[in-house]
Amino acid sequence: MSPFSLTEDQIAIRDMAQDFAAETLAPHAARWDEEKHFPIEEMRAAAALGMGGIYIGDDVGGSGLTRLDAALIFEALSTGCPTVAAYISIHNMCAWMIDRYGSQEQRQQFLPKLCTMEHLASYCLTEPGAGSDAAALKTKAVLDGDHYVLDGQKQFISGAGVSDIYVVMARTSEAGPGGISTIVVEKDTPGLSFGANEKKMGWNAQPTRAVIFENCRVPVANRLGPEGIGFKIAMAGLDGGRLNIGACSLGGAQGALDRSLAYAKERKAFGSAIADFQALQFKLADMATELEAARSLLWRAAAALDAKTPDATKLCAMAKRVATDTGFEVANHALQIHGGYGYLADYGIEKIVRDLRVHQILEGTNEVMRMIVARGLVGRAKGN
Ligand SMILES: Cc1cc2nc3c(=O)[nH]c(=O)nc-3n(C[C@H](O)[C@H](O)[C@H](O)COP(=O)(O)OP(=O)(O)OC[C@H]3O[C@@H](n4cnc5c(N)ncnc54)[C@H](O)[C@@H]3O)c2cc1C
Repeated sequence: MSPFSLTEDQIAIRDMAQDFAAETLAPHAARWDEEKHFPIEEMRAAAALGMGGIYIGDDVGGSGLTRLDAALIFEALSTGCPTVAAYISIHNMCAWMIDRYGSQEQRQQFLPKLCTMEHLASYCLTEPGAGSDAAALKTKAVLDGDHYVLDGQKQFISGAGVSDIYVVMARTSEAGPGGISTIVVEKDTPGLSFGANEKKMGWNAQPTRAVIFENCRVPVANRLGPEGIGFKIAMAGLDGGRLNIGACSLGGAQGALDRSLAYAKERKAFGSAIADFQALQFKLADMATELEAARSLLWRAAAALDAKTPDATKLCAMAKRVATDTGFEVANHALQIHGGYGYLADYGIEKIVRDLRVHQILEGTNEVMRMIVARGLVGRAKGN
Protein backbone atom coordinates (compact mmCIF):
# COMPACT_ATOMS: atom_id res chain seq x y z
CA MET A 1 0.00 0.00 0.00
CA SER A 2 1.36 3.40 -0.89
CA PRO A 3 1.27 5.78 2.09
CA PHE A 4 -0.32 8.30 -0.27
CA SER A 5 -3.49 6.38 -0.98
CA LEU A 6 -5.69 4.90 1.70
CA THR A 7 -7.29 1.49 1.44
CA GLU A 8 -11.05 1.09 1.76
CA ASP A 9 -10.53 -0.25 5.28
CA GLN A 10 -8.47 2.78 6.25
CA ILE A 11 -11.09 5.14 4.89
CA ALA A 12 -13.73 3.26 6.90
CA ILE A 13 -11.59 3.47 10.09
CA ARG A 14 -11.02 7.19 9.60
CA ASP A 15 -14.72 7.83 8.93
CA MET A 16 -15.70 5.86 12.01
CA ALA A 17 -13.37 7.99 14.20
CA GLN A 18 -14.53 11.17 12.47
CA ASP A 19 -18.20 10.35 13.13
CA PHE A 20 -17.42 9.52 16.75
CA ALA A 21 -15.57 12.83 17.14
CA ALA A 22 -18.44 14.80 15.61
CA GLU A 23 -21.19 13.08 17.61
CA THR A 24 -19.55 12.33 20.97
CA LEU A 25 -16.64 14.76 21.45
CA ALA A 26 -17.25 18.01 19.55
CA PRO A 27 -20.62 18.96 21.13
CA HIS A 28 -19.11 18.86 24.65
CA ALA A 29 -15.48 19.90 24.08
CA ALA A 30 -15.92 23.56 25.14
CA ARG A 31 -17.75 22.62 28.34
CA TRP A 32 -15.21 19.92 29.24
CA ASP A 33 -12.48 22.53 28.78
CA GLU A 34 -14.26 25.06 30.96
CA GLU A 35 -15.24 22.57 33.67
CA LYS A 36 -11.93 20.67 33.50
CA HIS A 37 -13.92 17.48 33.01
CA PHE A 38 -12.09 14.25 32.06
CA PRO A 39 -14.70 12.37 29.95
CA ILE A 40 -14.05 8.77 30.98
CA GLU A 41 -17.38 7.35 29.77
CA GLU A 42 -16.89 8.85 26.32
CA MET A 43 -13.36 7.44 26.15
CA ARG A 44 -14.75 4.02 27.03
CA ALA A 45 -17.21 4.44 24.18
CA ALA A 46 -14.21 5.11 21.90
CA ALA A 47 -12.57 1.95 23.26
CA ALA A 48 -15.73 -0.03 22.46
CA LEU A 49 -15.09 0.97 18.83
CA GLY A 50 -11.50 -0.37 19.05
CA MET A 51 -9.63 2.83 19.91
CA GLY A 52 -8.38 1.79 23.38
CA GLY A 53 -5.77 -0.66 22.06
CA ILE A 54 -5.32 0.36 18.44
CA TYR A 55 -2.02 -1.41 17.71
CA ILE A 56 -2.32 -4.05 20.44
CA GLY A 57 -2.65 -7.76 19.65
CA ASP A 58 -6.21 -9.06 19.30
CA ASP A 59 -5.54 -11.98 21.69
CA VAL A 60 -5.83 -9.47 24.58
CA GLY A 61 -8.65 -7.38 23.11
CA GLY A 62 -6.61 -5.02 20.93
CA SER A 63 -7.46 -3.98 17.38
CA GLY A 64 -4.20 -5.14 15.76
CA LEU A 65 -4.06 -2.10 13.47
CA THR A 66 -1.02 -0.24 12.06
CA ARG A 67 0.64 3.05 13.01
CA LEU A 68 -0.75 4.63 9.88
CA ASP A 69 -4.25 3.53 10.94
CA ALA A 70 -3.56 5.10 14.34
CA ALA A 71 -2.47 8.36 12.72
CA LEU A 72 -5.76 8.47 10.80
CA ILE A 73 -7.72 7.77 13.98
CA PHE A 74 -5.98 10.44 16.07
CA GLU A 75 -6.30 13.09 13.39
CA ALA A 76 -10.03 12.32 13.12
CA LEU A 77 -10.62 12.21 16.89
CA SER A 78 -8.86 15.56 17.29
CA THR A 79 -11.30 17.31 15.02
CA GLY A 80 -13.71 16.77 17.93
CA CYS A 81 -11.35 17.51 20.85
CA PRO A 82 -7.53 17.48 20.67
CA THR A 83 -7.21 17.10 24.45
CA VAL A 84 -9.28 13.94 24.71
CA ALA A 85 -7.68 12.49 21.57
CA ALA A 86 -4.23 13.20 23.01
CA TYR A 87 -5.02 11.41 26.27
CA ILE A 88 -6.28 8.37 24.33
CA SER A 89 -2.99 8.53 22.44
CA ILE A 90 -0.94 8.41 25.68
CA HIS A 91 -3.08 5.52 26.93
CA ASN A 92 -2.41 3.62 23.69
CA MET A 93 1.33 4.30 24.01
CA CYS A 94 1.40 2.78 27.51
CA ALA A 95 -0.63 -0.23 26.42
CA TRP A 96 1.77 -0.81 23.53
CA MET A 97 4.80 -0.73 25.86
CA ILE A 98 3.20 -3.55 27.89
CA ASP A 99 2.18 -5.42 24.73
CA ARG A 100 5.65 -5.18 23.18
CA TYR A 101 7.93 -5.65 26.20
CA GLY A 102 5.68 -7.46 28.70
CA SER A 103 5.59 -11.23 29.29
CA GLN A 104 2.53 -13.26 28.27
CA GLU A 105 1.44 -13.14 31.91
CA GLN A 106 1.78 -9.36 32.08
CA ARG A 107 -0.05 -8.95 28.79
CA GLN A 108 -2.95 -11.08 30.07
CA GLN A 109 -2.93 -9.30 33.43
CA PHE A 110 -3.01 -5.71 32.18
CA LEU A 111 -4.06 -5.42 28.55
CA PRO A 112 -7.68 -6.65 28.39
CA LYS A 113 -8.84 -3.90 30.77
CA LEU A 114 -6.64 -1.31 29.09
CA CYS A 115 -8.07 -2.14 25.66
CA THR A 116 -11.61 -1.51 26.92
CA MET A 117 -10.37 1.51 28.89
CA GLU A 118 -11.98 0.05 31.99
CA HIS A 119 -8.47 0.84 33.22
CA LEU A 120 -6.67 4.00 32.10
CA ALA A 121 -2.89 4.31 31.81
CA SER A 122 -0.31 7.05 32.42
CA TYR A 123 3.25 7.36 31.11
CA CYS A 124 5.69 8.42 33.85
CA LEU A 125 9.06 9.61 32.57
CA THR A 126 9.47 13.35 33.31
CA GLU A 127 10.72 14.48 36.72
CA PRO A 128 11.08 17.94 38.28
CA GLY A 129 14.82 17.87 37.48
CA ALA A 130 14.74 15.72 34.33
CA GLY A 131 12.62 16.75 31.34
CA SER A 132 14.44 16.95 28.01
CA ASP A 133 17.38 15.18 29.66
CA ALA A 134 15.14 12.28 30.66
CA ALA A 135 18.05 9.86 31.19
CA ALA A 136 19.04 12.00 34.21
CA LEU A 137 15.94 10.78 36.08
CA LYS A 138 16.42 10.04 39.78
CA THR A 139 13.35 8.08 40.91
CA LYS A 140 14.86 5.00 42.53
CA ALA A 141 13.64 1.41 42.47
CA VAL A 142 15.66 -0.57 45.01
CA LEU A 143 15.38 -4.34 45.04
CA ASP A 144 14.12 -5.83 48.32
CA GLY A 145 13.31 -9.55 48.05
CA ASP A 146 10.64 -9.99 45.40
CA HIS A 147 9.70 -6.29 45.44
CA TYR A 148 11.14 -3.00 44.27
CA VAL A 149 10.88 -0.07 46.67
CA LEU A 150 10.23 3.11 44.70
CA ASP A 151 11.09 6.60 45.94
CA GLY A 152 10.97 9.79 43.92
CA GLN A 153 8.66 12.07 42.00
CA LYS A 154 7.37 12.30 38.45
CA GLN A 155 6.17 15.64 37.10
CA PHE A 156 3.45 16.67 34.58
CA ILE A 157 1.89 13.22 34.33
CA SER A 158 -1.18 13.14 32.08
CA GLY A 159 -4.12 11.33 33.61
CA ALA A 160 -2.39 11.02 36.98
CA GLY A 161 -4.69 10.58 39.96
CA VAL A 162 -7.38 9.05 37.75
CA SER A 163 -5.40 6.43 35.84
CA ASP A 164 -5.30 2.89 37.18
CA ILE A 165 -1.96 1.88 35.64
CA TYR A 166 1.32 3.88 35.81
CA VAL A 167 4.11 2.85 33.45
CA VAL A 168 7.10 4.19 35.39
CA MET A 169 10.70 4.67 34.29
CA ALA A 170 12.86 4.31 37.43
CA ARG A 171 16.53 3.91 38.24
CA THR A 172 17.50 0.37 39.23
CA SER A 173 21.26 0.91 38.92
CA GLU A 174 23.95 3.36 37.84
CA ALA A 175 23.51 6.85 36.36
CA GLY A 176 22.60 7.25 32.71
CA PRO A 177 20.18 5.48 30.37
CA GLY A 178 21.56 1.98 31.05
CA GLY A 179 20.45 2.10 34.71
CA ILE A 180 16.76 2.62 34.02
CA SER A 181 14.00 -0.01 34.15
CA THR A 182 10.28 0.15 33.37
CA ILE A 183 7.91 -0.89 36.16
CA VAL A 184 4.11 -1.03 36.10
CA VAL A 185 2.59 0.47 39.26
CA GLU A 186 -1.09 -0.04 40.06
CA LYS A 187 -3.16 2.82 41.44
CA ASP A 188 -3.91 1.51 44.92
CA THR A 189 -0.32 0.57 45.76
CA PRO A 190 0.58 1.95 49.23
CA GLY A 191 3.19 4.72 48.96
CA LEU A 192 1.80 6.06 45.66
CA SER A 193 0.22 9.53 45.83
CA PHE A 194 -0.50 12.48 43.56
CA GLY A 195 0.00 16.24 43.48
CA ALA A 196 -2.72 18.79 42.80
CA ASN A 197 -4.26 19.04 39.32
CA GLU A 198 -2.07 21.62 37.53
CA LYS A 199 -3.70 24.82 36.24
CA LYS A 200 -2.87 24.90 32.54
CA MET A 201 -3.18 27.05 29.40
CA GLY A 202 -4.98 24.22 27.57
CA TRP A 203 -5.48 20.44 27.72
CA ASN A 204 -8.04 21.15 30.44
CA ALA A 205 -10.17 18.09 29.70
CA GLN A 206 -7.48 15.84 31.17
CA PRO A 207 -5.72 16.12 34.53
CA THR A 208 -1.96 16.70 34.87
CA ARG A 209 -0.44 15.89 38.26
CA ALA A 210 2.81 14.98 39.94
CA VAL A 211 3.12 11.30 40.84
CA ILE A 212 4.89 10.69 44.14
CA PHE A 213 6.51 7.46 45.32
CA GLU A 214 7.33 7.10 49.02
CA ASN A 215 8.52 3.69 50.09
CA CYS A 216 6.20 2.31 47.40
CA ARG A 217 6.56 -1.47 47.16
CA VAL A 218 5.91 -2.97 43.74
CA PRO A 219 6.34 -6.66 42.82
CA VAL A 220 9.43 -7.40 40.72
CA ALA A 221 6.96 -9.29 38.51
CA ASN A 222 5.67 -5.89 37.35
CA ARG A 223 8.95 -4.99 35.59
CA LEU A 224 8.71 -4.97 31.78
CA GLY A 225 11.62 -6.89 30.23
CA PRO A 226 15.01 -7.21 31.92
CA GLU A 227 16.55 -4.54 34.16
CA GLY A 228 18.34 -1.74 32.32
CA ILE A 229 16.22 -1.52 29.15
CA GLY A 230 13.71 0.97 30.55
CA PHE A 231 15.06 3.94 28.66
CA LYS A 232 14.92 1.97 25.41
CA ILE A 233 11.30 1.03 26.18
CA ALA A 234 10.45 4.66 26.99
CA MET A 235 11.97 5.92 23.72
CA ALA A 236 10.35 3.16 21.65
CA GLY A 237 6.98 4.15 23.10
CA LEU A 238 7.62 7.76 22.17
CA ASP A 239 8.30 6.99 18.48
CA GLY A 240 4.64 6.07 18.08
CA GLY A 241 3.50 8.62 20.65
CA ARG A 242 5.09 11.39 18.61
CA LEU A 243 3.24 10.30 15.48
CA ASN A 244 -0.02 10.28 17.41
CA ILE A 245 0.52 13.69 18.97
CA GLY A 246 1.47 15.06 15.54
CA ALA A 247 -1.75 13.59 14.16
CA CYS A 248 -3.68 15.26 17.00
CA SER A 249 -2.19 18.60 15.90
CA LEU A 250 -3.23 17.97 12.30
CA GLY A 251 -6.81 17.16 13.33
CA GLY A 252 -7.18 20.18 15.58
CA ALA A 253 -5.78 22.45 12.88
CA GLN A 254 -7.87 20.89 10.12
CA GLY A 255 -10.97 21.54 12.21
CA ALA A 256 -9.90 25.17 12.68
CA LEU A 257 -9.22 25.54 8.95
CA ASP A 258 -12.62 24.09 8.02
CA ARG A 259 -14.36 26.53 10.36
CA SER A 260 -12.30 29.41 8.97
CA LEU A 261 -13.39 28.60 5.43
CA ALA A 262 -17.05 28.63 6.44
CA TYR A 263 -16.60 31.81 8.45
CA ALA A 264 -14.72 33.64 5.69
CA LYS A 265 -17.56 32.96 3.24
CA GLU A 266 -20.14 34.40 5.65
CA ARG A 267 -18.33 37.32 7.28
CA LYS A 268 -18.70 40.61 5.39
CA ALA A 269 -16.32 43.58 5.34
CA PHE A 270 -15.93 46.45 2.84
CA GLY A 271 -19.06 45.28 1.03
CA SER A 272 -18.08 41.67 0.33
CA ALA A 273 -17.36 38.36 2.03
CA ILE A 274 -13.86 38.38 3.51
CA ALA A 275 -13.23 35.16 1.52
CA ASP A 276 -13.25 37.36 -1.60
CA PHE A 277 -10.06 39.14 -0.54
CA GLN A 278 -7.03 37.61 -2.17
CA ALA A 279 -4.85 38.18 0.91
CA LEU A 280 -7.23 35.96 2.84
CA GLN A 281 -7.47 33.40 0.04
CA PHE A 282 -3.67 33.13 0.00
CA LYS A 283 -3.63 32.62 3.76
CA LEU A 284 -6.23 29.84 3.46
CA ALA A 285 -4.29 28.27 0.59
CA ASP A 286 -1.07 28.29 2.63
CA MET A 287 -2.83 26.78 5.64
CA ALA A 288 -4.21 23.92 3.52
CA THR A 289 -0.84 23.40 1.80
CA GLU A 290 1.22 23.35 5.01
CA LEU A 291 -1.20 20.91 6.61
CA GLU A 292 -1.06 18.60 3.60
CA ALA A 293 2.76 18.69 3.62
CA ALA A 294 2.85 17.87 7.33
CA ARG A 295 0.32 15.07 6.84
CA SER A 296 2.40 13.54 4.03
CA LEU A 297 5.51 13.47 6.24
CA LEU A 298 3.53 12.03 9.14
CA TRP A 299 2.11 9.23 6.99
CA ARG A 300 5.58 8.50 5.64
CA ALA A 301 6.97 8.28 9.18
CA ALA A 302 4.07 6.03 10.23
CA ALA A 303 4.73 3.73 7.27
CA ALA A 304 8.43 3.62 8.28
CA LEU A 305 7.52 2.70 11.87
CA ASP A 306 5.18 -0.01 10.60
CA ALA A 307 7.97 -1.35 8.37
CA LYS A 308 10.51 -0.97 11.25
CA THR A 309 13.01 0.74 8.95
CA PRO A 310 16.28 1.99 10.51
CA ASP A 311 15.33 5.63 9.92
CA ALA A 312 11.92 5.32 11.63
CA THR A 313 12.93 7.15 14.85
CA LYS A 314 14.40 10.03 12.86
CA LEU A 315 11.31 10.27 10.62
CA CYS A 316 9.00 10.21 13.67
CA ALA A 317 10.99 13.09 15.21
CA MET A 318 10.84 15.05 11.93
CA ALA A 319 7.12 14.43 11.59
CA LYS A 320 6.36 15.37 15.22
CA ARG A 321 8.17 18.67 14.86
CA VAL A 322 6.63 19.60 11.54
CA ALA A 323 3.09 18.46 12.38
CA THR A 324 2.97 20.16 15.79
CA ASP A 325 4.57 23.42 14.60
CA THR A 326 2.32 23.49 11.54
CA GLY A 327 -0.77 22.59 13.54
CA PHE A 328 -0.19 25.43 15.97
CA GLU A 329 0.54 27.97 13.22
CA VAL A 330 -2.55 26.97 11.23
CA ALA A 331 -4.78 27.18 14.31
CA ASN A 332 -3.33 30.60 15.13
CA HIS A 333 -4.03 31.81 11.56
CA ALA A 334 -7.58 30.48 11.94
CA LEU A 335 -7.98 32.63 15.04
CA GLN A 336 -6.78 35.68 13.06
CA ILE A 337 -9.28 34.97 10.27
CA HIS A 338 -12.06 35.00 12.86
CA GLY A 339 -10.97 38.48 13.99
CA GLY A 340 -12.16 39.44 17.48
CA TYR A 341 -14.62 36.54 17.50
CA GLY A 342 -11.72 34.11 17.26
CA TYR A 343 -10.57 35.37 20.64
CA LEU A 344 -13.92 34.56 22.25
CA ALA A 345 -14.44 31.14 23.81
CA ASP A 346 -17.84 30.71 22.07
CA TYR A 347 -16.24 30.18 18.67
CA GLY A 348 -14.03 27.29 19.84
CA ILE A 349 -10.94 28.47 17.96
CA GLU A 350 -8.97 29.88 20.90
CA LYS A 351 -9.38 26.51 22.65
CA ILE A 352 -7.74 24.75 19.70
CA VAL A 353 -4.83 27.23 19.81
CA ARG A 354 -4.42 26.66 23.56
CA ASP A 355 -4.66 22.88 23.21
CA LEU A 356 -2.20 22.57 20.32
CA ARG A 357 0.45 24.78 21.93
CA VAL A 358 1.59 22.07 24.33
CA HIS A 359 2.14 19.57 21.52
CA GLN A 360 5.28 21.56 20.67
CA ILE A 361 6.56 20.88 24.21
CA LEU A 362 5.62 17.36 25.29
CA GLU A 363 6.66 13.90 24.11
CA GLY A 364 10.04 15.62 23.60
CA THR A 365 10.17 19.33 22.87
CA ASN A 366 10.58 20.39 19.26
CA GLU A 367 14.18 21.35 20.12
CA VAL A 368 14.73 17.74 21.23
CA MET A 369 13.22 16.60 17.90
CA ARG A 370 15.88 18.69 16.15
CA MET A 371 18.57 17.09 18.36
CA ILE A 372 17.41 13.61 17.28
CA VAL A 373 17.52 14.57 13.60
CA ALA A 374 20.85 16.39 13.95
CA ARG A 375 22.48 13.37 15.63
CA GLY A 376 21.96 11.46 12.40
CA LEU A 377 23.53 14.30 10.42
CA VAL A 378 26.45 15.55 12.49
CA GLY A 379 26.66 13.17 15.47
CA ARG A 380 25.91 13.90 19.11
CA ALA A 381 26.35 17.47 20.32
CA LYS A 382 28.52 18.06 23.39
CA GLY A 383 26.49 17.33 26.52
CA ASN A 384 23.67 15.52 24.67
C1 LIG B 1 0.41 19.38 29.85
C2 LIG B 1 1.61 18.51 29.90
C3 LIG B 1 1.47 17.11 29.93
C4 LIG B 1 2.58 16.29 30.01
N1 LIG B 1 2.40 14.93 30.09
C5 LIG B 1 3.47 14.13 30.37
C6 LIG B 1 3.28 12.73 30.65
O1 LIG B 1 2.16 12.21 30.60
N2 LIG B 1 4.36 11.98 30.98
C7 LIG B 1 5.61 12.51 31.04
O2 LIG B 1 6.55 11.77 31.36
N3 LIG B 1 5.83 13.83 30.78
C8 LIG B 1 4.79 14.64 30.46
N4 LIG B 1 4.98 15.99 30.22
C9 LIG B 1 6.32 16.54 30.35
C10 LIG B 1 6.95 16.98 29.03
O3 LIG B 1 7.30 15.86 28.29
C11 LIG B 1 8.15 17.88 29.41
O4 LIG B 1 7.61 19.10 29.88
C12 LIG B 1 9.07 18.10 28.23
O5 LIG B 1 9.76 16.91 27.90
C13 LIG B 1 10.11 19.19 28.50
O6 LIG B 1 10.75 19.02 29.73
P1 LIG B 1 10.85 20.26 30.75
O7 LIG B 1 9.50 20.83 30.89
O8 LIG B 1 11.56 19.79 31.96
O9 LIG B 1 11.72 21.33 29.97
P2 LIG B 1 13.34 21.43 29.95
O10 LIG B 1 13.92 20.12 29.62
O11 LIG B 1 13.78 22.10 31.20
O12 LIG B 1 13.56 22.41 28.72
C14 LIG B 1 13.41 23.83 28.80
C15 LIG B 1 13.72 24.40 27.41
O13 LIG B 1 15.09 24.11 27.07
C16 LIG B 1 15.12 23.46 25.81
N5 LIG B 1 16.27 22.55 25.80
C17 LIG B 1 16.60 21.62 26.74
N6 LIG B 1 17.71 20.96 26.37
C18 LIG B 1 18.09 21.48 25.17
C19 LIG B 1 19.17 21.23 24.28
N7 LIG B 1 20.10 20.30 24.53
N8 LIG B 1 19.27 21.98 23.15
C20 LIG B 1 18.34 22.92 22.88
N9 LIG B 1 17.28 23.21 23.68
C21 LIG B 1 17.17 22.50 24.81
C22 LIG B 1 13.80 22.73 25.71
O14 LIG B 1 13.49 22.43 24.36
C23 LIG B 1 12.87 23.78 26.31
O15 LIG B 1 12.54 24.75 25.35
C24 LIG B 1 3.88 16.85 30.06
C25 LIG B 1 4.04 18.24 30.00
C26 LIG B 1 2.93 19.06 29.93
C27 LIG B 1 3.13 20.54 29.91
